Amino acid sequence: FLRHREFLWQEGHTMHATEEEAREETMRMLNLYADFMENVLAMPVVRGRKTDKEKFNGAEETYTVECMMHDRKALQAGTSHYFGDGFARAFDITFTGRDNQLHYPHQTSWGVSTRMIGGIIMTHGDNNGLVLPPRIAPIQAIVIPVAQHKEGVLDAAAALLDRLKAAGIRAQMDDSDQSMGWKAAQYEMKGVPLRVEIGPKDMEKGQCCICRRDSGEKVFVPLAELEAKVQELLDAVHDGLFQRAKQNLEDHTKVCRTLDEVKSFMEGEGGFAKTMWCGELECELKMKEQAGVTSRCMPLKQEAVGDTCVCCGKPAKHMIYWGVAY
Ligand SMILES: [Zn+2]
Repeated sequence: FLRHREFLWQEGHTMHATEEEAREETMRMLNLYADFMENVLAMPVVRGRKTDKEKFNGAEETYTVECMMHDRKALQAGTSHYFGDGFARAFDITFTGRDNQLHYPHQTSWGVSTRMIGGIIMTHGDNNGLVLPPRIAPIQAIVIPVAQHKEGVLDAAAALLDRLKAAGIRAQMDDSDQSMGWKAAQYEMKGVPLRVEIGPKDMEKGQCCICRRDSGEKVFVPLAELEAKVQELLDAVHDGLFQRAKQNLEDHTKVCRTLDEVKSFMEGEGGFAKTMWCGELECELKMKEQAGVTSRCMPLKQEAVGDTCVCCGKPAKHMIYWGVAY
């Protein structure tokens, strides 16, 4: 999904009467992508602007949402470009404005692709397989009858499945002949957020057992509270995944003040090196050559982590993140 020959993507192009409107659209789409990644995919992002070297050809400005994968490499997960009126001038595209005069429109373009699927796998997955964020998981809850040959168990499990589906939860049941252990491992590998088990003992107690994919934690839930509790647990898994990824991002983002610091950080555990930068291409190239990093973005939330460029020591213009990208 990250290095592919073919991929699907979602892309948009817009034209606006004014620069202000086009810039507004550029930021609106960047924020829309960021919200989707954080609130649906549970992937924390850094919103920022690309350097001139890394920006899209022909764009005046390229904005990006950068994610950190669990191996601490960077993934550019989506971009949004402000084109100005350069393309319109080059191709002589004009419109008649309210003043009845011809004008060049201001353009934007933005896109994400199936590389986001790679991002989901690389952000949340663990050694047991996929871990899917609940809000996009094709199966949110898998119902598994325990000791299903015993009287009434299959009916009880089917009743749970019906209730979950009626509550709008994407649920399935596995009543195949495979062993309990095989089934548990199978849905763990597939990343299903919740496993709902019911057996004879649970039926006696009027409960079921729900196991979370993200933490392995098990809870016993009174049957009367099934729908509410499953919904609550799906949100808890989302929050758990987001917090874990955010912790990874924060733990592996390090303020560096010299090129040597960046080098030793990247040779060690690596991640995002957060530094000041003078804005010169020469320093950007030297960072790549000497520390093996590319500029990821200049975060929209700027902060002064020093006064001088990490590379040349001249007065700094921007705070910037460096990293190794997919
Ligand atoms: Zn510099």
